[in-house]
Amino acid sequence: MSNTGPARPPIAIDGPAVSGKSSVGRSLASHIGYRFLDTGLMYRAATWNAIKNDVDVNDLVAVAQAAERMDFAVSNGETGGNLIVVNGEDVTKHLHAPAVDDSVSSVASVGRVREIMVAEQRKLASGGAIVMVGRDIGTVVIPEAPLKIYLTATVQTRANRRHRDFIAEGTEIEFEDVIRSMAQRDLIDSSRENSPLRPADDARIVDTDDLTFDEVVNHLVELAKDVL
Ligand code: C5P
Repeated sequence: MSNTGPARPPIAIDGPAVSGKSSVGRSLASHIGYRFLDTGLMYRAATWNAIKNDVDVNDLVAVAQAAERMDFAVSNGETGGNLIVVNGEDVTKHLHAPAVDDSVSSVASVGRVREIMVAEQRKLASGGAIVMVGRDIGTVVIPEAPLKIYLTATVQTRANRRHRDFIAEGTEIEFEDVIRSMAQRDLIDSSRENSPLRPADDARIVDTDDLTFDEVVNHLVELAKDVL
């Protein structure tokens, strides 16, 4: 079936923590000549900013105020990923630290934080030709996207990937701690009242457990051909 909507429409990719959304989404974008936006980085930036300013991440009002005061911008890095500048400083390299992992779901559950981020995401999506990845992209941010993908994999597979990444970058962390933090994040993200993680009704579910990275990307490129 071919798409009858606007040329080069946006593509939404959602899924739980470490389901491969960012690397797969970035590769898909580069294959089809689209821009790429990893919306998780925006919630991570709000979290990093709150921690840096000694804000209690469980104090919803203080978290919202810190997000309102945060001056941030998203841009494209040299390797196709995104860079996040907060109050003039490129903070991208801090955004996957375990301390941010542990608090980001709490920050992302604050309604005011989501309003700020979703408004910015819709602005960035408005030109089309963009692959956006997150938790609520197909359900809330751009439900009009003609292609919505939901990437999944078992908790074990995802924790293995994340642990390997931590070790590769020199962060010492126990596998059990990785799995616990990830499962906790999934639980908060999928049970929150505001924009919970779930596949859109018309999402294409892609289970990545038994697929290589290239197989996943190739499958998505094929799906994208229907809407380009
Ligand atoms: O995708 P990533 O794991 O980097 O996202 C970090 C966190 O940001 C998620 O666990 C979730 O709490 C939040 N998030 C969200 N909505 C999005 C993207 C991320 O709530 N669209």
